Amino acid sequence: MTTAHPPARERPGAALKDASQLRQKRMIAGHYERLGRAPESGEKNVYTFVPGNLTELLRSFDLLPVLPEINALQSAMRGKSKEYIAIAEKAGQSEDVCTYVKCDYGMMKAGNVGPTGERLPRPDLLLLSYTGCFTFLKWFEILREEYGAPVVMLHVPYQADGRITDSMRAYVVAQLRDKVIPELERISGRRYDEERLRAELRRSAAAEEDLVWVLQSARRRPSPIDAYFGAVYYLGPIFSAFRGTEDACAYYRELREEIEERIALGLGPVTPDGPLAQERFRLVIEGPPNWTHFHEFWRMFADEGAVAVASTYSKVGGVYDTGFRHDPDRPLETLADYCMGCYTNLNLPTRVDLITRYVEEYEADGVLIHSIKSCNSFSAGQLAMLREIESRTGKPGGFIESDLVDPRYFSAANLKNRLESYFQMLDQKRVRATA
Ligand code: SF4
Repeated sequence: MTTAHPPARERPGAALKDASQLRQKRMIAGHYERLGRAPESGEKNVYTFVPGNLTELLRSFDLLPVLPEINALQSAMRGKSKEYIAIAEKAGQSEDVCTYVKCDYGMMKAGNVGPTGERLPRPDLLLLSYTGCFTFLKWFEILREEYGAPVVMLHVPYQADGRITDSMRAYVVAQLRDKVIPELERISGRRYDEERLRAELRRSAAAEEDLVWVLQSARRRPSPIDAYFGAVYYLGPIFSAFRGTEDACAYYRELREEIEERIALGLGPVTPDGPLAQERFRLVIEGPPNWTHFHEFWRMFADEGAVAVASTYSKVGGVYDTGFRHDPDRPLETLADYCMGCYTNLNLPTRVDLITRYVEEYEADGVLIHSIKSCNSFSAGQLAMLREIESRTGKPGGFIESDLVDPRYFSAANLKNRLESYFQMLDQKRVRATA
């Protein structure tokens, strides 16, 4: 069998990469190069966070987004986080502080050289569109002290009752109109251009449409994608600096074509070692991945034929598969709805409903929680959620723990043992069901 878009290795021994992955790598490199040149080019930048980001709005002012969480995870994938976390702890940050914060702080103290080797510019503005997690507030307090940069805050109400009300939406829109936009005008020296924002939002919606198609392709057997490890790559452009750009649209079109081709050929997901030979277990996974040992962690699943058919991590930068798309006809309202709809802004009953639905719609064999030691926002309530999902679906739950970017909390032997026991349990359950 041949494919028009065969995965390739960039160098001997490296993981196989699809053409879309290589395109994304070029996009990211280009973005960091632009940031590196900003002190000379005069381009202004805004540091902001992934959940509830306002990328289209920033781009409509020609402002470049910088996402500290993305820098932290990219540093971890390149083996730099251990050093950065040590610098942060030496400077007094406790062991219990979110390791994204410590990694970012350590990177800044070590010279603020970003993951691709370009020095990141100082922030012209810190846009705190803080969604679901109080740590974001403390994080930018630290950066404000260090850089002396101005902060503008967008307070995003939590979906405590599991829904977005008109008054919540009006509250966010008023902040956008009266606080955020005037500050962006001041920093950029440009007037707010609603037509330009609408054009960005139109492109976002097109990319989101293709992304949802890709994520929902996992309903097939075999699934042509891995919706946890593989999805990390699929989400890169839409979660980070590229939503609303032509580049993002091109990336998602190409990705969709690759998946269409894989479906036509009956292929499973591409793993670090090539297409998965046989799908044995279909999982729904809750919680972010580990970044310091990303490929090693992925192989623990791929070697057992375990495929993630849905995940919650792929919704932290936007829950699109329940129908939300950025709407160019309601530019500020749609930004408000987007911010309030991100996964970590949902209450626990809504998260349980979502995961239960995934188990059923994607015909999963079980639900696995990867709990993050230093992320209280994600980890709180996970065991209670697991018990509820198990009782509603009758599918076995599993629980493993490590960390985002602190390699001290990744115990390969322990994780492997727990995963092997979990897969044995799924196997036995299947044998009993067919006996
Ligand atoms: S605690 Fe979790 S959600 Fe909050 S900033 Fe850290 S990683 Fe993000």
